Amino acid sequence: MVKRSYNKTPMPEQAPEIRWNNFEEVALGYDLESGILEASRCLQCKDAPCILKCPVMIGIPGFIKAIKEENIQKAYEIISRYSNLPAICGRVCPQEKQCEMVCRLGQSKKFEPVAIGKLERLVADWALEQPVEKVERTFHKGKVAIVGSGPSGLTAAGDLAKLGYKVVIFEALHTAGGVLTYGIPEFRLPKRIVAKEIERIEALGVTIETNVVVGKTITIEEIQRDFDACYIAVGAGAPHFMGIPGSALNGVYSSSEYLTRINLMHGYQFPTYDTPVQKAAKVAVIGGGNVAMDAARSAKRMGASQVTVIYRRSVEELPARVEEYHHSVEEGIEYSWLTNPVAYLDDGTGKLAGVQCVKMELGEPDASGRRRPVTIPGSEFVIEADVAIEAIGQGSNKVLLATFPELAVNKWGYIDADEETCATNVPGIFAGGDIVTGAATVILAMGAGKLAAKEIDQYVTAKEA
Ligand code: FAD
Ligand code: SF4
Repeated sequence: MVKRSYNKTPMPEQAPEIRWNNFEEVALGYDLESGILEASRCLQCKDAPCILKCPVMIGIPGFIKAIKEENIQKAYEIISRYSNLPAICGRVCPQEKQCEMVCRLGQSKKFEPVAIGKLERLVADWALEQPVEKVERTFHKGKVAIVGSGPSGLTAAGDLAKLGYKVVIFEALHTAGGVLTYGIPEFRLPKRIVAKEIERIEALGVTIETNVVVGKTITIEEIQRDFDACYIAVGAGAPHFMGIPGSALNGVYSSSEYLTRINLMHGYQFPTYDTPVQKAAKVAVIGGGNVAMDAARSAKRMGASQVTVIYRRSVEELPARVEEYHHSVEEGIEYSWLTNPVAYLDDGTGKLAGVQCVKMELGEPDASGRRRPVTIPGSEFVIEADVAIEAIGQGSNKVLLATFPELAVNKWGYIDADEETCATNVPGIFAGGDIVTGAATVILAMGAGKLAAKEIDQYVTAKEA
């Protein structure tokens, strides 16, 4: 009988005191030997609960078995039947809440679950080193427009091209990838990995037109005229703001602006690249999700000596991935729990000097099921900061929606699309990803893209019949 290790095979990482000085990737990936060792822990369950918990239902035991047999090509073929972006998912998917959460090995108290995400990354990184196979395709089925080149749009595009559609993606920014490119920092998801996975989607025959803002540069009516169907996957990129006094002070950023300047505009390489980001000694980050972790860890790498995350609940309620939180603590990020900012303080010259805060306590559960934070009277105090970054959530961007009022939206301003089909109230217009669900995850956005591709195929086929 195979002797199984209790714990996951560790993945090498850059040491905290080295990595907080650079933007290089933190987790360095398995080599083949570690991958085979980890793959041999899988029980090859017949009913494979890991598959059912994966939003795109990757054949997990199959690809893990292929790794164990040292057949990485076969492992890649299995994964790519289900996912067009495996090197990305292997890095940023919250596996601990999906496949790994239900992994049968992890159900026993003794063992940790199989490191499914890390194995996916091993296979996908191997594949990215292989030459891109440019398949000559005939696009006999029709033309589909996709608005937005985030994971949802890219996934739908890849699947539709494989089905025989000519696909054009319209992207507002000058680089494709959505949040993968402008939001998630280099040290978690290197841009060369995103670029290579996009290259593979383009190799399927997909055209990406950047610098095209649908609703401004071209209209949805023009798309309706020139294409058989359209998938709207514009994400939820408009930042929410605290709206507290002092928000206009120099040094107060939204996380979207801060991260975009660093990731997309290479602000950390100023002046080699020409977009600056304010360097600060003391940084306060407001929020407790993955975006707050990314902003705090980026601020540390920008040279801040003190970075404090201000969160109004306690560590138990922190919505960020546990792994990201641990990495942030290792890197010296500090936390002010049960704390809420009430004003930004002026240093007398229009620049931020500090964040005035109050302490909170947890009351009764609210609609989200989490205990509601309640202000403790008379608990005001100041956290010194010359930069503050608000990472309290994002909502729908109105640029496209305002020019297409026929499209039904819900009370939160997201597109009202059918969960089972991605269809909207306008025939031929489908929608999915964050613009339908609100800010969610890469894999859920990809799941919607896959569903949309299938439904668009049925819609166009039925229309032509
Ligand atoms: P997006 O990725 O937002 O892409 C939408 C694209 O549409 C953008 O490129 C945008 O420029 C374009 N667009 C918008 N309007 C127009 C228009 N009018 N015309 C043309 N193009 C337009 N999820 C995880 O699973 N794991 C993580 O670790 C994680 N970390 C995150 C970190 C940050 C900082 C952020 C912001 C999000 C993170 N997420 C994470 C969430 C995840 O990235 C999103 O859920 C996912 O990217 C949504 O995909 P999407 O394709 O719907 O939209
Ligand atoms: Fe392997 Fe875990 Fe999936 Fe079972 S549940 S097949 S042990 S990865």
